[in-house]
Amino acid sequence: MRKGFSIKICHNCGTPLAIYAEECYSCHKKVGEVDKYGKAKKPADWKSYALCGISWVAFLVYIWWAFF
Ligand SMILES: [Zn+2]
Repeated sequence: MRKGFSIKICHNCGTPLAIYAEECYSCHKKVGEVDKYGKAKKPADWKSYALCGISWVAFLVYIWWAFF
């Protein structure tokens, strides 16, 4: 799935990276596959999604607990 690109652009800082790079050497963010614009996709980060979900649930429970 290279689609003719030989570099991809870091989604975070815009540094051009090798197509096979898994981490940006400039900002050290994980980078995923190249998309159709030649930009690296953000890799799925389930840990932070889960953390985000948990903090939302905790927030809602707190609201519920504080006001009802
Ligand atoms: Zn970067």
